[in-house]
Amino acid sequence: MRTQVGIIGGGPSGLLLSQLLHLQGIETVVLEKHTREHVLGRIRAGVLEHGFAQLMRQAQVGERMDREGQIHEGFFIAHGGRQDRIDLRALTGGKTVLVYGQTELTRDLYEARDRSGGKVIHRAQEVTPNDVNTARPYLTYRVGNEVARLDCDYIVGCDGYHGVSRQSIPQERIKVFERAYPFGWLGVLSRTKPVSPELIYATHERGFALCSMRSTTLSRYYIQVPETDTVADWSDERFFEELRARLPPQVAQGMIVGPSIEKSIAPLRSFVAEPMRYGRLFLAGDAAHIVPPTGARGLNTAGSDIHYLYHALLDHYRSGDDEGLDSYSEHALARVWKGQRFSWWMTTLLHRFPEHSPYEQRLQQTELDYLFSSQQALGSLAENYVGLPF
Ligand SMILES: Cc1cc2nc3c(=O)[nH]c(=O)nc-3n(C[C@H](O)[C@H](O)[C@H](O)COP(=O)(O)OP(=O)(O)OC[C@H]3O[C@@H](n4cnc5c(N)ncnc54)[C@H](O)[C@@H]3O)c2cc1C
Repeated sequence: MRTQVGIIGGGPSGLLLSQLLHLQGIETVVLEKHTREHVLGRIRAGVLEHGFAQLMRQAQVGERMDREGQIHEGFFIAHGGRQDRIDLRALTGGKTVLVYGQTELTRDLYEARDRSGGKVIHRAQEVTPNDVNTARPYLTYRVGNEVARLDCDYIVGCDGYHGVSRQSIPQERIKVFERAYPFGWLGVLSRTKPVSPELIYATHERGFALCSMRSTTLSRYYIQVPETDTVADWSDERFFEELRARLPPQVAQGMIVGPSIEKSIAPLRSFVAEPMRYGRLFLAGDAAHIVPPTGARGLNTAGSDIHYLYHALLDHYRSGDDEGLDSYSEHALARVWKGQRFSWWMTTLLHRFPEHSPYEQRLQQTELDYLFSSQQALGSLAENYVGLPF
């Protein structure tokens, strides 16, 4: 089989790139390791920045997102028993974010690919990029007992943090930067009305908490837990008791609790691999970088990679101009690192670090005091949260 762009991974990055290129008449094949049901069963991101939502519209998959997604003009930070609002719209000259679950947007992308006969091959095992340093790269993979070969002009690795693309690059050709945090986020999804119409990020001496949502009837709550904890350690009862203890009393009292329909622990890690290109293999999204979810940058940064790569491939196929492909890694990484900085800052500001001395705890408190006493500091937070320009 032959295509122009072979994409490894049918998550949001791979599907979005495939859909955008299809609309420009550029052929792609997506190789996805799991079933569609498995991909759609993953509960992950929920806050879309301005630029990501624009990209969805450009890909002609924004209709349901615009109908069902909720525009959020601000969010709260709860600290020291009080709640302060970050007015995103006022602080950024009119920008907002959109709350729309990753599961939903992935479904929209799958349906769009179906409608136009897009080729997404599920259960593709042992996907291997070959000859990426030549003009004729190809992918090999196996579905069931059948081994197949996909010839292409370019290969794009959109296969997430644990994928094969990054790992197929010789170690000496890639530099890795990383930081693991000594805690994770325990998340609970419940079919209840969210406690607040806007997100509440709470910092408390017992640890961080987040009240988020996927819709007006679906709540997503998180608490910071030690990295050694497991889901089995946390009954629903214990979870909600701990969550309430970390929230201001007036918020805790108003919370409607219900049984969890999903419960999982996500470790917190920052990771960047440089460069994001090796020969004709390009990395995009979580395959090249991940962030702790504080600040909601993960999916959004994946979106900015896709934006750069889409335009670079378009220039190549339309006019033979390879400047965008040659500068892709540099451009994408410049924005990736800004997302890393913001996620690190938000994580450091709001979590309890077991290794922090009383001095560092006071600095954290002072950082919060400063934030809420300075329009410039609030402006910087808001500017990053709604997403820096591509
Ligand atoms: C538990 C969790 C919670 C998160 N919460 C948030 C959040 O609240 N906010 C936020 O902004 N971000 C969050 N993120 C990050 C966000 O979900 C990711 O940034 C986003 O999914 C990146 O999309 P992607 O397509 O690049 O990678 P992925 O979504 O990881 O997709 C990669 C795809 O590649 C497939 N694949 C993997 N290996 C192979 C292979 N060898 N061959 C073929 N296919 C393969 C996988 O099955 C998957 O479908 C979270 C991530 C996790 C893991």
